[in-house]
Amino acid sequence: MCPGCLSTSDCVSSHLVAKSIYKRYLRAGELGPVKMANGKIWPTDHQLQAKLLCFRCEGILSRKGEDWLAERLCTWERSFPLFETLTKFAPEVSEDGFSLWSGAKNPEIDCDAIAHFAIGVFWKASVYAWTAGHIELGKYAEPIRQWLFDGGQFPTKVTVRVVVSLPENAQIILAPPYRVTRANAHWYCFYIPGMAFEMGVGNLIGDEEKLVCLMHNSLRPIIRTDELTGRIQELGVRTFRESEQTQSYERFKAKRNRLLGRSG
Ligand SMILES: [Zn+2]
Repeated sequence: MCPGCLSTSDCVSSHLVAKSIYKRYLRAGELGPVKMANGKIWPTDHQLQAKLLCFRCEGILSRKGEDWLAERLCTWERSFPLFETLTKFAPEVSEDGFSLWSGAKNPEIDCDAIAHFAIGVFWKASVYAWTAGHIELGKYAEPIRQWLFDGGQFPTKVTVRVVVSLPENAQIILAPPYRVTRANAHWYCFYIPGMAFEMGVGNLIGDEEKLVCLMHNSLRPIIRTDELTGRIQELGVRTFRESEQTQSYERFKAKRNRLLGRSG
């Protein structure tokens, strides 16, 4: 059965993050490895895929979010189309280590596509026993499914944050969802090149969380924070240059250097 439309259609291969993102970065050999919660280094060219959704539901995820965003992520050459588009407008808020832009005021930003992509990844992470990236969404999975595939209302007890890195600080990594412990709700995160997504679910999601929520604040906030950039950098490849490096990391580095024409 397809968990997207609950029909008995045959399922096709689905990627946990997005086929279009893997295709783009794998072709170029660009994705860096990340450190996972168990302390291992995860080579992100391990594609997480499974026979999960029917052809129609896969198409909905591609068309309503993945395809738009995949072309706008940060590259190794530090071209970051989404960031360039975002910063054509001044931020609504800009203070120490924090900036907030309004996606709603920028006609070139497709906020619905960004939200559909992000929520789609969190939901897929919850409906299959992935080797990495599986999360539990409990009673929130069904209203999220309805919003993704049936045009339902966005659930009030779900909040989503979209964070961009400065191109020069962006990590070219792909880290599948994992749970973060915070006092007021269940939170989950995942990272793609230059961006981080956080989703909170629970009864205690309040107005403060909703201020920076892409769905619940009509400004459609997209933010940059030094705090989160730091956390992503910890996960990313830079911190592993002097630490234990796995064979897959060595292979990745050799491949990247070949592509970039570097030695060592
Ligand atoms: Zn389906």
